[in-house]
Amino acid sequence: MAAYDYDLFVIGGGSGGVRAARVAAALGKRVGIAEEYRFGGTCVIRGCVPKKLFVYASQFPEHFEDAAGYGWTVPQARFDWPTLIANKDREIARLEGIYRNNVQGAGGETFQTRAVLVDRHTVRLEAEGRTITADQILVATGGRPALHPALPGHEHCITSNEAFHLAELPKAIMIEGGGYIAVEFANIFHGLGVATTLVYRGTEILSRFDMDLRRTLHETMETKGIRILCHSISEKVEKRPDGRLDVTVTGGEVLTVDQVMLAIGRTPNTEGLGLEAAGIETGVTGAIEVDAYSRTNIDNIWAIGDVTNRVQLTPVAIHEAMCFIETAFKDNPTRPDHETIATAVFSQPEIGTVGLSEDEAVKRFDEVEIYRATFRPMRHTLSGRQEKMLMKLVVDAKSRKVLGAHILGPDAGEMAQLLGIPIKAELTKDDFDRTMAVHPTAAEELVTMYKPTYRVKNGKRID
Ligand code: FAD
Repeated sequence: MAAYDYDLFVIGGGSGGVRAARVAAALGKRVGIAEEYRFGGTCVIRGCVPKKLFVYASQFPEHFEDAAGYGWTVPQARFDWPTLIANKDREIARLEGIYRNNVQGAGGETFQTRAVLVDRHTVRLEAEGRTITADQILVATGGRPALHPALPGHEHCITSNEAFHLAELPKAIMIEGGGYIAVEFANIFHGLGVATTLVYRGTEILSRFDMDLRRTLHETMETKGIRILCHSISEKVEKRPDGRLDVTVTGGEVLTVDQVMLAIGRTPNTEGLGLEAAGIETGVTGAIEVDAYSRTNIDNIWAIGDVTNRVQLTPVAIHEAMCFIETAFKDNPTRPDHETIATAVFSQPEIGTVGLSEDEAVKRFDEVEIYRATFRPMRHTLSGRQEKMLMKLVVDAKSRKVLGAHILGPDAGEMAQLLGIPIKAELTKDDFDRTMAVHPTAAEELVTMYKPTYRVKNGKRID
């Protein structure tokens, strides 16, 4: 008889947990996985997927406007929020089923329950009122939106979780935060016709991205009509008799809005998880501490994804799951690689980026060449839209390696995915130069910027 009920028990049925459970089950391991809310986790249920569906919905008004220049007359468009929510919910329910079935189809057992560690080999399934034992345990419980208990009136605020289920589309919204979730939702709500104000305590939105992208996106969002207040925070939120909210921001200005959305960071889901009982160490943010192989200080317990607060992205959680499988079940110790991760911000216009920003490259390399182009994409010529596209390559002058690529404009996310390959492969600017352009595209600019726009030598710009 086996010593444990399972070879692997996974706590959390999100991007990382489901992948690990499915692949381990397909290897013939006895696998169980518990999910307390909905299989699919943040990404599928209240993150990437519904967010992108909202982005698509919010882009139609610009498409309708642009159509005129191409000869189309579009009758007065009307938007129905409940239809969007219902259609989105149907798609999410379909995906949720697929995620659960994928684990079961591979031979894993799924449990609809909160799971809590009792000791290093025992897990309590709360909804079933029983415990199970496992040889290996994987914690993949993700994170949740950070709340702001110090803000007077914080109880009137929503987070991204609620934004996906609002009964009514607000007429005016204030979003607090400057990260990608805040920026994406500001564009979504604005696109859907909501008067939108973004309030951010920092100097410029989207810290850690290339400054050129940050500034240009900021300007473009303002030109579209989104109000952005940097160096600013909300000081109190008060409910008015008519149900609307008065938000006092830095400097005393009062914004009257229908919703206040906080997007001020995410907190790892580690509270009440029994980590102390199992002897697992956490860091200052509450995230589980792991080694380079995603192993906690308890050698049969592992943690992956957002709960470890390394890089909070779905493909990273999935990659960490695959590395965990190699290490724990295939006798092939594999460290997740967190270098040079291509990523997108689904703002409008979109950001696609991979590798080092100019500022970061200048800190690390003696001489850096910057190839930069701004231009009006062809599709904006007949439409009359004035928005510019920005493309930038950051190159190490000595080795000629392309260190970073940064794009602002239509389909930038799609381009970043492909640019991730040459930049991960450490190809040089000469490789880019000898690549034939695809014409007419916007992306051809990436292989036709032959002369550096400027160089930065020992921190000083040389034109
Ligand atoms: P999660 O997907 O969060 O899954 C954890 C699961 O564990 C949850 O389902 C939770 O209910 C469950 N759970 C927690 N505690 C327990 C317990 N004790 N017992 C049982 N179950 C438990 N990433 C991208 O790459 N691209 C994007 O465009 C993108 N957009 C995003 C937009 C928003 C609004 C948000 C919030 C996130 C977005 N992300 C995006 C991030 C992405 O969703 C996460 O990085 C990813 O989901 C992390 O996967 P995970 O497996 O670590 O955790």
